[in-house]
Amino acid sequence: MSFLTIIQILLFITLVGASFFVAFRKFKEIYDNINMGKPEQIDTTLGFRLKSMFLIAFGQKKMFKLTFATQIELIEIFIDGLTGKHRILYHAFEGSFLESLYVFVINFIEILSLLTFIVTIIFILRRTTFKVARFQMPELKGWPWRDALNILAFELTLITFIFMMNSGDSALHMKEHGEGYGFILSGFLGNMISSFPNGLLHFIEKTGWWGHLCMVMVFLVYLPYSKHLHILLAFPNTFFTRPEPKGEMRNMTAIEHEVKSMLDPSFVVPATDGEIKFGAKDVYDLSWKSLLDAYSCTECGRCTAACPANQTGKKLSPRKIMMDTRDRMEDISKGKKEHGPDFADNRNLLGDYVTKEELRACTTCNACVEECPVNISPLNIILELRRNMIMDEADSPAEWNTIFANMENNQAPWQFSPDDRLKWTEELN
Ligand code: SF4
Ligand code: SF4
Repeated sequence: MSFLTIIQILLFITLVGASFFVAFRKFKEIYDNINMGKPEQIDTTLGFRLKSMFLIAFGQKKMFKLTFATQIELIEIFIDGLTGKHRILYHAFEGSFLESLYVFVINFIEILSLLTFIVTIIFILRRTTFKVARFQMPELKGWPWRDALNILAFELTLITFIFMMNSGDSALHMKEHGEGYGFILSGFLGNMISSFPNGLLHFIEKTGWWGHLCMVMVFLVYLPYSKHLHILLAFPNTFFTRPEPKGEMRNMTAIEHEVKSMLDPSFVVPATDGEIKFGAKDVYDLSWKSLLDAYSCTECGRCTAACPANQTGKKLSPRKIMMDTRDRMEDISKGKKEHGPDFADNRNLLGDYVTKEELRACTTCNACVEECPVNISPLNIILELRRNMIMDEADSPAEWNTIFANMENNQAPWQFSPDDRLKWTEELN
């Protein structure tokens, strides 16, 4: 093994090791942030969990692309990087039936890469030129906007490096063996540059190899800071899908017990209920599942596009609710890093991030939950915050208070006594 190859292998190990270390630290931080939430029991069988994960997370085209093509790509990078050689799989399979399989897989990756390149350009145009409405909303200004474009630019760069690497390599292989590997796209490009001197072809191939390795590692480090974290979190999030029908409201257990004890004197309120807290004021009061939802949100905006409150000009955007929840966790985490674990900033998710006006605008129609492609429930967070606003802060419009009083006294929102409820039937024949 040459001195240069040893340097290359050491460089590879250092780059990959450092990237994994930095990424791991951020992933651990996100794990701790999700654990800020309250416990939530999700009673589902393993079969139900796996089914949800396969149907929703794997069922998405993007996930499929990632889990198939990228895994093959990563295997190739790692084997080549650790051995300091290129196309080691091809050479290992050469002459056997696996050679054709290898060529098929690389062709598959290249065609997928070309399609991704075209689609990425369309995505960039959709955001910058065609200005699709759901990508132009106020909550996407600033970092979310840059984040989306960063990833799209990243994809274009990565694919360019892959084609540089494969076409440089194909051209060298053609010169050496009189024929290419059988890769359709890079073989075509390699043919076009095969008249270049060998030194230049090696430079193109090596730049492509190191370039695409660096892009993969940059993506690994960037991922936990980006909305594209959903690529990974969609798996645990769908694995822990709640079993109840979408949008079903959960009772507050302690209140339910209190009502039960009023209706049935023999009912004993469990000691575990402790002090009753109404809804959620901050992320600590939300369940870990709602916090995982927030980190898994793709910011696609389908929920907001379907929200009747948003459509009629109200301030509410369910996508913003998810983004605010994530921002709040990130701010707390940053504060704890700077000021220690007891950090408190006298701010809350309710009021400082999500306004009461937004919460009041929700009709609980459930459209956002129905629309979400990855089973996220913005409604759950909205309901928890609104419960706190109304039951803890007693902050509700006067009209609502009348309704609440009627429901308490008359078991209906109207001001009629329950005894008068059937009076209208007296006028019937
Ligand atoms: S439940 Fe609320 S937030 Fe969701 S779509 Fe309906 S009005 Fe909008
Ligand atoms: S539809 Fe789901 S993933 Fe898309 S922005 Fe809304 S909550 Fe996030």
